[in-house]
Amino acid sequence: TRRSIGFIGLGHMGGPMAANLVAAGYTVTGFDVVPAALEAAHAAGVVVAASAGEAATGADVVITMLPAGKHVFAAYDGDGPGGGLLAAAKPGSLFLECSTIAVEDARIAHEMVLATGHRGLDAPVSGGVVGAEAGSLTFMVGGSADDFADAAEIFEVMGKRIVHCGGPGAGQAAKVCNNMILGVSMIAVSEAFVLGEKLGLTHQALFDVAANASGQCWSLTANCPVPGPVPASPANRDYQPGFAGALMAKDLGLAVEALNATGVQASMGRAAEEIYRNFAQEGGAGTDFSAIINTIRAASD
Ligand code: NAD
Repeated sequence: TRRSIGFIGLGHMGGPMAANLVAAGYTVTGFDVVPAALEAAHAAGVVVAASAGEAATGADVVITMLPAGKHVFAAYDGDGPGGGLLAAAKPGSLFLECSTIAVEDARIAHEMVLATGHRGLDAPVSGGVVGAEAGSLTFMVGGSADDFADAAEIFEVMGKRIVHCGGPGAGQAAKVCNNMILGVSMIAVSEAFVLGEKLGLTHQALFDVAANASGQCWSLTANCPVPGPVPASPANRDYQPGFAGALMAKDLGLAVEALNATGVQASMGRAAEEIYRNFAQEGGAGTDFSAIINTIRAASD
């Protein structure tokens, strides 16, 4: 028989992830502090619990998909309906922490899980809401090889690429490094398009050269910040996300936390964090992060 799953945090990502587990035949008992999220999950076949602790009681596997590290700590050992997971879960439960949180917080969360007699993996994802709905997320996983092997069949329901990155925190480390590349590369591509405009180069000409030359990268060839060359990119639909500016700003904030903790210089990563923090505060939070090109163009007139 399939293992029973407690699922905490049924928002944009957690809702469709839980729905895919139900569709695959798992019994999923869910909780969210927002009633509307619980109602949507109920419609998808999730058994609704009255508290996080109730969702974890009797579960073999406890999945958390929450906004930030403080929410994970509150869910693990806080008071009230949204807390108490570690105490409620039966000994030896497998905790899969799928939220994007700081590497340090992931390591602390892992220690909390072990200290209460459970097992745990950090397993942040990429692929966005589209990937959560399609069951095609990438999972970046940190923790022991045995726990990774034990969790693989569950990740495979929700994702397509499942990568064991190393010990506790390694999943979050991989995610924060990847997204630092992404933030920096999108700014670089956007600056090049605006410079091309000023030099009288068409978008298509720059694309045709760079996409087949050493400037090639995902920010250019998949998420191209100008409309035209890549029809599926958010620039062609008024920069509807996609990957929202608020999430890029959040992830770069986690990157800077890691840079400071490790003493890595990374002037480009730090600059990208400042650029995206301002972008999110000045109206870009809800648009695709590639709309940064409009900020660069506006500042260049
Ligand atoms: P969201 O805000 O839509 O969902 C989070 C849910 O957690 C909310 O419904 C909230 O009510 C609930 N919650 C908070 N505290 C709780 C508690 N103690 N108990 C129960 N429920 C609680 O966020 P999201 O977009 O689903 O993102 C979740 C995580 O995934 C974040 O860490 C985010 O950075 C990461 N992520 C998001 C995307 C994306 O495209 N949205 C992509 C990759 C990773």
